[in-house]
Amino acid sequence: MLQRVNPGHKALADYRSIIRRELYEELQELAGRLRGVRVLHVNATSFGGGVAEILYTLVPLARDAGLEVEWAIMFGAEPFFNVTKRFHNALQGADYELTIEDRAIYEEYNRRTARALAESGEEWDIVFIHDPQPALVREFSGGLGEGTRWIWRCHIDTSTPNRQVLDYLWPYIVDYDAQVYTMREYTPPGVELPGLTLIPPAIDPLSPKNMALSRDDAGYIVSQFGVDTERPFLLQVSRFDPWKDPLGVIDVYRMVREEVPEVQLVLVGSMAHDDPEGWDYWYKTVNYAGGDPDIFLFSNLTNVGAIEVNAFQSLADVVIQKSIREGFGLVVSEALWKARPVVASRVGGIPMQITSGGGILIDTIPEAAAACAKLLSDPDFAREMGRRGKEHVRANFLTPRLLRDELRLFAKLLG
Ligand code: UDP
Repeated sequence: MLQRVNPGHKALADYRSIIRRELYEELQELAGRLRGVRVLHVNATSFGGGVAEILYTLVPLARDAGLEVEWAIMFGAEPFFNVTKRFHNALQGADYELTIEDRAIYEEYNRRTARALAESGEEWDIVFIHDPQPALVREFSGGLGEGTRWIWRCHIDTSTPNRQVLDYLWPYIVDYDAQVYTMREYTPPGVELPGLTLIPPAIDPLSPKNMALSRDDAGYIVSQFGVDTERPFLLQVSRFDPWKDPLGVIDVYRMVREEVPEVQLVLVGSMAHDDPEGWDYWYKTVNYAGGDPDIFLFSNLTNVGAIEVNAFQSLADVVIQKSIREGFGLVVSEALWKARPVVASRVGGIPMQITSGGGILIDTIPEAAAACAKLLSDPDFAREMGRRGKEHVRANFLTPRLLRDELRLFAKLLG
């Protein structure tokens, strides 16, 4: 039996005043057509990272729309996560030699997951598989029922993949009825994509992480972590991972400090269960910070949960996202939704989120530092930037739009 996640309850009606009327009406219409459709989401973890974050909102909202939606976690253990981490990095371009042992471990957990699904006897209209970890579940389960439609959702950038991993996985992925990518630029070169569908992710404006917090409440929370709320602080919220470049963020902070000596830096990073490298990188970052009392490192293990992330994001003077590679980068929309000025790398889905003056795109550490210093010295400029960013997110990156896109896809696949 696969572990099921209970994502709680949410009501679409609560979003009505936040989104456009046409979107709300289209959702009602799609919900009417898809009532009772049975959907199973499968991914690798219920905690940490963007995929879990999205499912915690999408699953209850789709249920509220009348679909019968479940979310299951595939089987996994450290050896498997070590392999899938290597796959993940390889698909994002890292060097890696695909070994028979790694394939065997990968297939074993996919096979066990597929067997559990098939043996449960449950029937699904849609099985929605997230990312490479469970990508072989379709193959090993024999596709389940006749009428089951299979969707593979890729949350990462596979535009310059390690060929060995791609050539190994792709024959299985092509068999899905739809391959969903955030943007066309992330798809691998030279492969067949018979069911390519482009759907960017989104954030939940009403979740504890993104709901409106007063400045006083946010300040009260932030000050309890020892950050001086009378002085400015830069923030990056990200897993401790080389692709997120926390060391680069420290370099940016050090350059900004030369111009703004009172500045502080807060790095918040959750430690995901499927990310064994996280700890190495955490210690590397702690060492790099070198005991600077104005650099704060927090994680879910130091009690920084959703509300605390919200408080840090709501109060930060500048939010940085210095990623080297990025899937979509949900944290960028999270910060923009709080009307914060964001300085972020021109990679992955970030440029899609930072357009028309709502944030600053950078390519280098000195550029990032200059952008931060400018924002710290010009509050009017920073305020206007935050306002524009928020409106861009409202129009494009809130969960009701994501739900609409997925319901459209279900309706198309089910005919
Ligand atoms: N996150 C969090 N606590 C942390 C670090 C990250 O809750 O300490 C959340 C963050 O707010 C965001 C998600 O994890 O919602 C990360 O998603 P993103 O797309 O930015 O990056 P990913 O980790 O999926 O590469």
